[in-house]
Amino acid sequence: MALTDGFGRPHTTLRLGLTERCNLRCVYCMPAEGIPLTPTRAMLTTDEIERLARVLVGTGVDKVRLTGGEPLVRKDAVEVTERLGRLGLRSLALTTNGLLLEDRLPALRAAGLTDLTVSLDTLRADRFQEITRRPGLDTVLGALDTALGLGYAIDGPRSLKVNVVAMKGVNEDEAADFAAWAACAPIEVRFIEVMPFDGNGWDRTELVPWTATRDAIEAVHGPLTPLDDGPSSTARTFTRPGWRGRIGFVASMTAPFCAGCTRLRITADGALKVCLFGARELSLRDALRSGATDAEVVALVTAALAGKAAAHAGMDVLAATDNRPMITIGG
Ligand code: SAM
Ligand code: SF4
Repeated sequence: MALTDGFGRPHTTLRLGLTERCNLRCVYCMPAEGIPLTPTRAMLTTDEIERLARVLVGTGVDKVRLTGGEPLVRKDAVEVTERLGRLGLRSLALTTNGLLLEDRLPALRAAGLTDLTVSLDTLRADRFQEITRRPGLDTVLGALDTALGLGYAIDGPRSLKVNVVAMKGVNEDEAADFAAWAACAPIEVRFIEVMPFDGNGWDRTELVPWTATRDAIEAVHGPLTPLDDGPSSTARTFTRPGWRGRIGFVASMTAPFCAGCTRLRITADGALKVCLFGARELSLRDALRSGATDAEVVALVTAALAGKAAAHAGMDVLAATDNRPMITIGG
């Protein structure tokens, strides 16, 4: 039986931050002045990550997503994947910016990586540099090709998604181009509404509501057909007759999906967060290092879940609320 919160939501998904570090500086994620990095000794070790994952798998978690920061910047990212791959998960997923992916993907696949999400906000090299403050578009596109070659595809046993943060006046004019890609390749392109986090200077005028992105795609490609999404899905997905891929919209701002939330998060320094937007945290690292038993760890998570809110606040309240920068939470 999975752990449930006060609203009866079973928590079967864990997002695990592997690091706060990143080799990109995306304008919506990394504060312009950078972030003060947590000392290495305060980060979860490989053994601690494995233990927390194993304890939570024992409570019914069957899906783990590795994130960050850029998870592949962590030197032992493949080893972490191998260890988690032995826990018998239904899904072992990775969200990455793709820069360090191509070489590691065969090992990650062998380690049991079932679901791959690559973040890519533009198909234009100059914009890639503006958004991420680094070059690298060709490297990311090369990694995506390799992923398709290794069998990551929406119609196979392993999935492949591309995350696109939609930003007004920055990349909103590329929605139809991304859709053209989804038309001919077996990928899911997910448009994400840009969200406020500490230090990212969020401004609601940057938001492109998911309906506007959908309309821009339909204006070029014709009407989209809705697909049947599960109750805990973060995205509404659509396709068109004859398309190989599909489109998804993650509307965290204009149409939050809290009612079906099944997610727990553990940051790279071991803080449990029961909501991406909740400032409340509990250090599982400290619990482990002070000798907590597995049962005591489960009790801590259960207590934190009992305090989980039914839904996160509206976007303007969130923009004015203290929280960590996204890069230290894990998107
Ligand atoms: N570095 C990896 C990457 O970029 O895929 C993993 C971590 S990143 C924080 C996870 C996801 O969060 C990425 O798809 C990124 O685009 C998204 N993200 C980061 N900041 C965001 C924001 N302010 N609003 C919406 N999505 C955001
Ligand atoms: Fe790095 Fe990912 Fe944040 Fe971009 S979105 S700065 S790649 S952690």
